[in-house]
Amino acid sequence: MRDPDLHLLLDFLNAHHHAHDGVWVDDCLASEQTLRAHFAGRGWPDVAVHGAARGVAYRLRNALSARIPGSYLPAPGDLDGVARELPLRVASIEGAPRLVGADADATDSLCAHLARVLGLAYEAMTDGTWARLKACRNQDDCQWVFLDRSKNRSRVWCSMETCGTTAKVRAYRARQRAARDDLGAAAK
Ligand SMILES: [Zn+2]
Repeated sequence: MRDPDLHLLLDFLNAHHHAHDGVWVDDCLASEQTLRAHFAGRGWPDVAVHGAARGVAYRLRNALSARIPGSYLPAPGDLDGVARELPLRVASIEGAPRLVGADADATDSLCAHLARVLGLAYEAMTDGTWARLKACRNQDDCQWVFLDRSKNRSRVWCSMETCGTTAKVRAYRARQRAARDDLGAAAK
């Protein structure tokens, strides 16, 4: 999967309310304004958003996010059901068949963008990319979805500097506490 496509996909999956690298990310689906700002900031013309399309966006994000190991979402949503609501067609792009939004020329439609995201998700699921997607193990604050490029697929944190370090400090403090408690119990 090409990097720009991967970024587009991750960008959609990661636009929910959480912290990443110490910065809070707002949920782009929270309102019509935030949704329009999200897509406009990614090179899409200002999209017309009606309530129903925002609902489709939510269900698409939930259905996709729930298929990622470590996701905060408990149950997979109805991906096929959402897919039925999004207009996809097959197009030949750079000599290869790709799924694109059915009215991809009319980029002012939110559903065309969502269909493009869905097409990229299908592509990722068939070319092996999806199997390497993970949600950051910092479930309380982060849940950032990333591509694990490590050879043995052992990466669990979005960033070792932020979430990885925080977890190490927490584990260290917990061990210290446990050691103190043991000492206290032994002294009694
Ligand atoms: Zn993280």
